[in-house]
Amino acid sequence: MKSPAVLVVGAGIIGCTIAHELAAFGSRVQVIDARQPGQGATRASAGILAPYIEGHELTLLRSLGGRSLALYDSFIERVRTDSGRDVIYQRNGTFELAFGDADVDRLSALSGALWKEGVEARWIPPLAFDDYEPLVNAGAKGALLITPHGFVGVTSLTLASAAAAERRGARFKTETGAIRIHPMPAGRVGVQTQSSSWDADRVVLAAGSWSSQITVEGADAIPVKPIRGQLIQLAMKPGQIQRVVWGPDGYLVPWPDGSVLVGSTVEDVGFDENSTEEGVSKLRSAAARLVPSLADAPITGVRTGLRPKGPDDLPILGLSEAVPGLIYATAHYRNGVMLSPLTARLVGDLVFDRGADPALRDLTPSRHGRL
Ligand SMILES: Cc1cc2nc3c(=O)[nH]c(=O)nc-3n(C[C@H](O)[C@H](O)[C@H](O)COP(=O)(O)OP(=O)(O)OC[C@H]3O[C@@H](n4cnc5c(N)ncnc54)[C@H](O)[C@@H]3O)c2cc1C
Repeated sequence: MKSPAVLVVGAGIIGCTIAHELAAFGSRVQVIDARQPGQGATRASAGILAPYIEGHELTLLRSLGGRSLALYDSFIERVRTDSGRDVIYQRNGTFELAFGDADVDRLSALSGALWKEGVEARWIPPLAFDDYEPLVNAGAKGALLITPHGFVGVTSLTLASAAAAERRGARFKTETGAIRIHPMPAGRVGVQTQSSSWDADRVVLAAGSWSSQITVEGADAIPVKPIRGQLIQLAMKPGQIQRVVWGPDGYLVPWPDGSVLVGSTVEDVGFDENSTEEGVSKLRSAAARLVPSLADAPITGVRTGLRPKGPDDLPILGLSEAVPGLIYATAHYRNGVMLSPLTARLVGDLVFDRGADPALRDLTPSRHGRL
C-alpha cells in the first residue's frame, strides 16, 4: 500500500518530531508554519524530562510521561543518526528541595511510592547535600533525588528533528499559516492559508496555543488557550550544578556551557509573548532560594513562550470526528517536550493504522465536544 501523504500544521517540537517519525516510516510529509521551526512555546522550553514531578497530581500524565521517558534514549539516538547533528541530552536525575514540613512529608512519601513502582528515587538529608549538589540552600530540610529524570536541549532537538525529517524527504514551508481545515472529496483533507490551498491524505494539527485560531469545518472551537511562561538564563561557571534542581517557586537547569536556566512563570495573559520586569525579578528570587550564590549572577538571556493548555491540562490527541483524516496533536501544556516521543509514536500509529493504543482513548479530542 502507498504511504499516505501528510500535511503537518505547525513546526514546534510536536510538529517537527511527528514529521520525522512519519517521514522515517515512508510518508510524504509537508510541514507548514507561520514562522521558522521551533519559534513557539518550544523556543522558551526548559526541556526538563520529569514525569514523576510534573505528574504528582495527575496520574494519567504521570503514566504517559513515564512511557514517553522510556522511549527517550532511542528517540534521541534516532534523531542524532538521521540528522547527523548532536542534541543536548542528559539523564542524571532531578533534585527536588523540601523547605517546609509538608514538602518533607510529601516528598518522602513519594520516594517510597516510586520505589514500589520500580522508579529509582532517594531521600537525601541536608548533611548529604555536599555529595550531590554542594551549592544548594543548606537551609532546606532534605531533597528527593529521582534518578531517571533529566533534560534535553529543546531547540537542538527540534531543529535536528526537522533536519532528520528533511533528509527523509519532508518539506518545510514557512510564512504560511493555516486558517481553515476542511474535508475534501475521496477522503482527502484540505488546508487553506492566506494565500494558498493544500491537500493531503491526512492532516496533523500541531499549532500549539494557536490551534484555537484555526477553523475546523463542522467542529467546535478547539479549546486550547495560551499560558505564558518566562524563563531567564544566568551566567555561572560550568560544572557547579550537576542536575536539575527543583523547588516550590521554580527550577534550575544546568546548561553544558555553565549557564543556568531558571523557570518559570505561569501567566494567563492571552497571546502576549513579551517578558516583564516582575517576571524576571520573581525568577531571580526563585533561583537564589534554591542556590544562594545565584543571587548576583548576571542575567544573560530572557525567553518567553505560550504553553498550549487544554481544559484538563492533558494533550488533545487523536482523530477528528468532524473532518475524517484530520489528527489533532495539541494542548501539551507544560509537557510537550517530555511527551514528544510518545506523541510522535501515537500519531504514527494513527497514520499507518498500526493498531489502537489505549492512550488514544484517554486523550481523544471528543472528550471536549465535537472536534
Ligand atoms: C517557559 C516554559 C518552560 C517549559 N518547560 C518545559 C519543560 O521543562 N518540559 C516540557 O516537557 N515542556 C516544557 N514546556 C512546554 C513545552 O514547551 C510545550 O508543551 C511545547 O513546546 C509545545 O509544543 P508545540 O509544538 O505543540 O507548540 P509550539 O512550540 O508553540 O509550536 C506551535 C507552532 O505552530 C505554529 N503556528 C501557529 N499558528 C499557525 C498556523 N495558523 N498555521 C501553521 N502553523 C502555526 C507556531 O508558529 C509554532 O511554530 C515549557 C514551556 C514554557 C513556555
